[in-house]
Amino acid sequence: MIYLKTDEEIELLRENNILVSKTLAEVGRHIKPGVTAKQLDKIADEFIRSHGATPAFLGYQGYPASITVSVNEQVVHGIPSDKVVIKEGDVVSVDIGTFMKGFVGDSAYTFAVGEIADDVRQLLDVTKEALYRGTAQAKAGNRVGDISAAVQDYAESFGYGVVRELEGHGLGRKMHESPGVPNYGLRGRGPVLKEGMVICIEPMITMGSRAIVFERDGWTVRTRDRKPAAHYEFAVAIRKDGPDVLTDFSIIEQSL
Ligand code: MG
Ligand code: MG
Repeated sequence: MIYLKTDEEIELLRENNILVSKTLAEVGRHIKPGVTAKQLDKIADEFIRSHGATPAFLGYQGYPASITVSVNEQVVHGIPSDKVVIKEGDVVSVDIGTFMKGFVGDSAYTFAVGEIADDVRQLLDVTKEALYRGTAQAKAGNRVGDISAAVQDYAESFGYGVVRELEGHGLGRKMHESPGVPNYGLRGRGPVLKEGMVICIEPMITMGSRAIVFERDGWTVRTRDRKPAAHYEFAVAIRKDGPDVLTDFSIIEQSL
């Protein structure tokens, strides 16, 4: 069942995703050599609560923290711990969810710590561009496969891996609604996009093989070959005149 949102509901989803953007910016300001993932989690938790929301990830299917922090070869769902100490040259993917006024926000950003290798910088840039290319297809009358193919084709043209086991999703009163939004697929396939749909598009792209491993903590996903991965996510409403991005990466990028 795909829930179509009213304009008022889309504005509540925007409020949530702007708060997520601001929280990502706040976390990003603190990502420096020596900070621990656990400290970043605390910063985000306090920031979200001080803005009248609750962290949507905490307790979700038993998840034990407020955000996810995935470093280098970790793709997504890294559990913040005080054993994870950020260092120069790392790439740090942060995924954050909020719950406020009955709706959920969900967005992610990969941060570079100081100087990173040129090939890793390219991985980040391509992953973000893949997100934008997918988003350009998010318009009424297109199909989910048009988004998927745009993401996949761009990422694979650089020889990168596209993670298939995890995907984007509808967003609303629940964090994961229909439809699923895979990062690979065929143009013209999948559910038709309709005005009022809100979806999260979230490419998870690997520098080497797309094969992943689930760590024994039950959450952390890493690349099998331990090469780096990147993850960018934002929420998009399908409107009459095209995609309406509810997350604001410029809030994050201005703070860096
Ligand atoms: Mg997310
Ligand atoms: Mg998501």
